[in-house]
Amino acid sequence: MRPCRDPRRDARRGVTTAAGRRRDGGGAGGWPGTGGPAVPPLQAMTGRLPHLAARLQGFGTTIFAEMSALAARTGAINLGQGFPDTDGPSEVTEAAVAAIRAGHNQYPPGPGIPELRAAIARHQKRFWGLDVDPDTEVLVTAGATEALAAALLALCEVGDEVVALEPTYDSYTACAAMAGARLRPVTLHPPDYAVDLDALAAAITPRTRLLLLNTPHNPTGAVLDDAELAAIARLCVDNDLIAVTDEVYEHLVYDGTHRPLTGFPGMAERTLTISSAGKTFSLTGWKVGWACGPAPLVDAVRTAKQFLTYVNAAPFQHAIVTGLELGDDYFGGLRDELAAKRDLLCAGLTEAGFAVFRPAGTYFVTVDVRPLGFEDGMALCRSLPERCGVVAVPNEVFYADPARGKHLVRFAFCKRTEVLAEAAERLAGLRV
Ligand code: PMP
Ligand code: GLN
Repeated sequence: MRPCRDPRRDARRGVTTAAGRRRDGGGAGGWPGTGGPAVPPLQAMTGRLPHLAARLQGFGTTIFAEMSALAARTGAINLGQGFPDTDGPSEVTEAAVAAIRAGHNQYPPGPGIPELRAAIARHQKRFWGLDVDPDTEVLVTAGATEALAAALLALCEVGDEVVALEPTYDSYTACAAMAGARLRPVTLHPPDYAVDLDALAAAITPRTRLLLLNTPHNPTGAVLDDAELAAIARLCVDNDLIAVTDEVYEHLVYDGTHRPLTGFPGMAERTLTISSAGKTFSLTGWKVGWACGPAPLVDAVRTAKQFLTYVNAAPFQHAIVTGLELGDDYFGGLRDELAAKRDLLCAGLTEAGFAVFRPAGTYFVTVDVRPLGFEDGMALCRSLPERCGVVAVPNEVFYADPARGKHLVRFAFCKRTEVLAEAAERLAGLRV
């Protein structure tokens, strides 16, 4: 596959912060001594911002922006933000070019083009045996990110609680806050990151509106098994909860099997299943996502979604139809390729001296940095480019109490084999 241009290089022209403000960088606007982009370190952003609404105070800059900017500034290998360094399948990228040339360049229909909704419904049947009506039970969104935001905005009342596994993908907490809801984390613990079902049951209160479940799970790489999912389904039914599931890594499972929660007894009528094309087709910048579920849930989410982006990515929607119709060899090939990369990076990290929690799925592997004599993952990540020319993400940002993840660091393995090999070699130099 052809290496793609590192989109993060564009960060030299500035990045958008979590607060949605553009901070123009370069030249005199850069941080002192770097000559690079004006990306303040997270610490600098966690103070009170005078114009930011109270519900968003403290969210700062996303760790992905901070760490990708650090990589761009230092030229380090970026194993932080999860994006591949190769383009997705050429059939799909060529289909996008053809769609642009064919004039699919104006607003698509609000719920998404009918061809894509039909292809998503066929995908749900083909891979997961699920029956979905493309006309009433599918909504195309601007990536899974928008589907998650629209779901939380549409489904939560102010003061509601949202139960989610912790470490928690960063947009969940921010979107819950935007909706006026509160996230109640249920912590997963290494080495296996299994769900503590008692803790999950205890987190459910009369204020709980929904359970937000991510499997395969970012950042741990855990893939929930049937027993966990069946127990979670029972909790949802018993407590009359809506489930919103984030399944963007549905095709990236190396050990075990992905099973959508909606397929469990009593769940079809209460589950909104979210996914996206970004990870499945190595096209994270296209931002084509979707939500499937019973019509009343999809109607609610569409109501919020239409006032966020209204619609997006007209030609890319056409191209993703081509992607979803690719043969089993494509989906199996992607999985096998990434499984080999997981093995390569896990071996390199083990060799370097980290305690490695081998992931069953996703793009990511989490390590404990303490065996190498480090205590603080955030400090290590900030100094890692200087120490050995690699960028990673500190897991503490995914915890309500950062102390719980202080010693954990996430590395992404969705990179070319030679890049992973070079990163492993560099990391080997950390051991003194
Ligand atoms: N959920 C999880 C768990 C993710 O890791 C990501 C990043 N791909 C997203 C949602 C956002 O997906 P998208 O890029 O399609 O908006
Ligand atoms: N999902 C990607 C990750 O976890 C990042 C996406 C983003 O930058 N928001 O690294």
